Amino acid sequence: MITTRDLRPCPFCDSGDVQLSSTRYGFVASCCSCGAMGPDLHTKTEAADEWDKRAGDVKPEAGEVASRLVGLLPDDSTCEDW
Ligand SMILES: [Zn+2]
Repeated sequence: MITTRDLRPCPFCDSGDVQLSSTRYGFVASCCSCGAMGPDLHTKTEAADEWDKRAGDVKPEAGEVASRLVGLLPDDSTCEDW
């Protein structure tokens, strides 16, 4: 299980169920509720920072962006503790 500081709630669905997952490139923050993902970055810190930046700044059209992101989670991504 990756331990890190708490990530901000999802900007798309407001879920607090946000986790960091490892990818083939590095790490990505993603929402376990709607599947929204932050950028794929090399370090956990960068991924968390970028997620928090977007969560704080962006007020997306709810649903529109989130629906495009659903299904893009990496194959090894789960919402279980690991
Ligand atoms: Zn979400």
